[in-house]
Order: sequence, then C-alpha cells, then structure tokens
Amino acid sequence: MGRIKYKKKKPTGERELHLKLWSEKKKHYCQNCDKDLGDDPNPAYFSHIIPKSKEPKLRLDPDNFKIICLPCHQIYEFGTLDQIRKFNLTDEQKNTSNRITI
Ligand SMILES: [Zn+2]
Repeated sequence: MGRIKYKKKKPTGERELHLKLWSEKKKHYCQNCDKDLGDDPNPAYFSHIIPKSKEPKLRLDPDNFKIICLPCHQIYEFGTLDQIRKFNLTDEQKNTSNRITI
C-alpha cells in the first residue's frame, strides 16, 4: 500500500473511520457495481448513506457508509433520482434518507 498525502483539515475522525472500514476487508469492491477498487483507500470511495447535513450524528456511524467507486459516487451525489434509487439501500435507510423520497 502506498503512502498518500491528504489535505490537512480539521480532524473529524472521519478519515480514521474510513481507514478502519477499509482495513476490515482484504478486497475492496464497489458496493454498487462490484468494480475492483484496488488497495488505495481514496476518501472519495466513502459515501455517506444518510447525508451528514441531515443526520450529523450518523457522520461517524460505520453503518452509514458505503464504499463505492468514483463514478458511482458521482451518481450517488449528483445523479438523477432513478439512478440513485438503484443503489441497494435497506428500507430503513430509504426511509431516513431524503434523497430517496418521491
Ligand atoms: Zn461502482
């Protein structure tokens, strides 16, 4: 695994959580399209299921993360409702996330 430098920001604990989630698995695949993500825990791979703006207390909840590839993250953050619906969220997550409401 290479060493990567990240921009210094206020420590939120989020990065540490990313690395913990990453290290829990040997192989990393996009949870949406199964693309192989390699060994580099790019911060952009970590997507909040429920946006932190909506539920700040879930910002560091390991269950509130999906590890997804960059194109999927792009769709998840900025895609159409139909595209976002295809993400396999649990019903509970769908109910809590304002992204999924019709
Ligand atoms: Zn993907």
